[in-house]
Amino acid sequence: MGRLSRLLAGSLLAAGAALALTADATLGFDGFGELDADSTYAEEIRLEVELNGPAPERLELLVRTPGDDSASVFPVEPSTDSATYVWDTAANHVVPNTLITYQWRAIDGDSVTLSEEGTIRYKDDRPGLDWQSAQLGEATVHWYGGAETQAMRFGELTAQGVARAEDLLGTELAGPVDIFVYDSREEFFGALSPGVREWTGAAAYSELRTIFMWLGGGSPSYLEVAMLHEVTHIVFHDATDNPFHEPARWLNEGIATWSETSEGADERAIVQVEAGGGGLFAFEAITEQFPIGERGGRLSYAQGTTMVDLIVERYGEEAIAAIAAAYRQGASDAAALEAGTGIPADELYDDFYEAFGVEAPEPVAVEPIPPSNVDRPPAGEVDDGGVDPDVEPPAPRPPDDSAPSEDPPAEGFPTGLVLLFGVAAAIAVGAVVLVSRRAARRQPG
Ligand SMILES: [Zn+2]
Repeated sequence: MGRLSRLLAGSLLAAGAALALTADATLGFDGFGELDADSTYAEEIRLEVELNGPAPERLELLVRTPGDDSASVFPVEPSTDSATYVWDTAANHVVPNTLITYQWRAIDGDSVTLSEEGTIRYKDDRPGLDWQSAQLGEATVHWYGGAETQAMRFGELTAQGVARAEDLLGTELAGPVDIFVYDSREEFFGALSPGVREWTGAAAYSELRTIFMWLGGGSPSYLEVAMLHEVTHIVFHDATDNPFHEPARWLNEGIATWSETSEGADERAIVQVEAGGGGLFAFEAITEQFPIGERGGRLSYAQGTTMVDLIVERYGEEAIAAIAAAYRQGASDAAALEAGTGIPADELYDDFYEAFGVEAPEPVAVEPIPPSNVDRPPAGEVDDGGVDPDVEPPAPRPPDDSAPSEDPPAEGFPTGLVLLFGVAAAIAVGAVVLVSRRAARRQPG
């Protein structure tokens, strides 16, 4: 029995007031029918829902992707008995294997109806990619063409890498991992987010629990090392996951690189050379992002790896596990490092520079900005667009307005209106930025 029929049956047993309620119910939206979702890679994700009864006053789609703290809300214009939202993934890149969770919300006056939750995994279904897959323990490897042997090897390495990283970080992998093995450069880069460095040969998206490997990314031994590196990123993500902040990037990359060989000799040599040459970075400077240039990028990895090696050597592997545990509790970078080593982070940094015979880098002093020496032209006439001056509110002048003060107030553009447009534009831009920031956050580690 439907909700409407139940209401009708109920109202037959009741009197007056209940009948009025029934009359209201027959006028309003009467719930969601079937949910449907489909996607075509690099084109769109199409989400549809059946609507029972008349369309609600407002219909919204709530969308979440892994790592989101809350849903993004998209208003949707319903048709007679259904609604469709098309997510343009050609314009807003979504990394393949992203699990999208969605729910429809109808608002009719004070009444809010939520649909059941639906999910769709956004698959890389580009023509020619005849994906096959195999499960090896916690890893599922996906490949196409003739890459089965390499894919299976990556699966084995994942198991090894996970076990080693779990040991080091004193934690367990929080869920399964997917590995996608791409053959061509074009197909591999077509899967990653825009803005990925051209030298990328393998990438881990920790929140998606997904690793992308490119068979042409390097020699077989490079790919094996890269596999260990990337899977360590995923265990590190699980080991440090907290609602407050990302751990220092130099530590994340340092642990992943150190785990390739469980030592840091090669990386120490790089730091040694730079200590006597271009100089070293402050650790605070490589906490968020690494420099783009080759020297800066290379040195950032090397400093991170060498610092991890120093911590393991002086305080034992258990110090790394203690640092991860502190992050899980929401510790800052400095507090987490102190929790692991027992010494303040600044002292740890000093010890690092001392090992290379250099002083800790000092912040670069800011040069004062001299007063402007640019002659600004007077502000031009503002076209009021033929707006009737009588109905417009007076325009408060900005303080540096150079127009003569005798101007009738209505000659200026009404500030209230500008503010309104500004807010509307900000909301529109905000929505776009939210989407692109989400994509940007998925930079591989
Ligand atoms: Zn990395």
